[in-house]
Amino acid sequence: MIVDIHKHFYTEEHTMNEDTLKNESMGRRSFFGKSLLAILGLSVLKHANVLADACPKSAPTGVLVQKEGEGMAKALKYFEDGTKAKASKKYVAGANCAGCKHFVKEKINGGYAPCKLMGNKYVSSCGFCDNFLKV
Ligand code: SF4
Repeated sequence: MIVDIHKHFYTEEHTMNEDTLKNESMGRRSFFGKSLLAILGLSVLKHANVLADACPKSAPTGVLVQKEGEGMAKALKYFEDGTKAKASKKYVAGANCAGCKHFVKEKINGGYAPCKLMGNKYVSSCGFCDNFLKV
């Protein structure tokens, strides 16, 4: 009889411990799984961000692209490569069209988007001009 009670408690306790351990183990696995996914997600986002930050190699086709030295670009000293505007007194280190209020991000196409000050002609996200206005 004593042995039976011991067996009963041992079995129940043992089962409970196993369940508890399983739950803890699942909880840990779930936690580590989610953490791993979060880390991978951040890594992908960071990589995507790096890609988004990369300067476009060429202008998109089928849209009007603002050329340097023409019309408003000349007046506002626009450079497709914003780092070339360093000589300007209005140059802001690290700033470019992508961070400007006049850059219509919603219409971005291959790293270029319309600039409201350039008659909505497309400018490079890495460009810069004297009328840069921080977002
Ligand atoms: S106004 Fe802004 S978006 Fe337009 S060319 Fe100048 S810096 Fe770029």
